[in-house]
Amino acid sequence: MRLVGIDALLAFATHVGQVAEKQDVLLLTGDLGAGKTTFTKGIAKGLGITQMIKSPTYTIIREYDGRLPLYHMDVYRIVSGSDELGLEDYFEGDGLSVVEWGRQLEELPHDFLEITLKKDPADETVRHLVFSIEGAQAQAFYDRIMVAPWK
Ligand code: ADP
Ligand code: MG
Repeated sequence: MRLVGIDALLAFATHVGQVAEKQDVLLLTGDLGAGKTTFTKGIAKGLGITQMIKSPTYTIIREYDGRLPLYHMDVYRIVSGSDELGLEDYFEGDGLSVVEWGRQLEELPHDFLEITLKKDPADETVRHLVFSIEGAQAQAFYDRIMVAPWK
């Protein structure tokens, strides 16, 4: 998927937040500045969260209340011991888990959707999104996301 401009990315992410369900897990992959935190802001909007979303780089996890709870994690700084953080409790909790740098987890969630964000080498404002699906819940989440006009 190719999205031109931050507004298009936010609109798509808002839609993702609107169709998310309890225990959906979304890993956000991409270099620094790719747009992972920006994407999470759009998701929060889609969940009806009005609080400001701050990057959880130092806190690892921040929790917000919307239509569903949003568990926003950033595991960039975790080098080892990520399996001891108890993130599983969030993945299996009442909300949507969004994990920046989630691929770095020692133990990946059992079921997750991954969106990889890539900057276009020729245009700073363009992002390419690549989806990868692991498990039945992620497949259902993906199917809810990929309705017109997004498919
Ligand atoms: P990450 O969390 O992946 O490090 P951020 O979301 O914090 O990335 O930062 C992305 C940066 O890129 C922001 O400064 C944002 O304004 C800028 N940007 C420019 N175009 C886009 C776009 N189409 N989508 C997302 N971010 C964009
Ligand atoms: Mg970030």
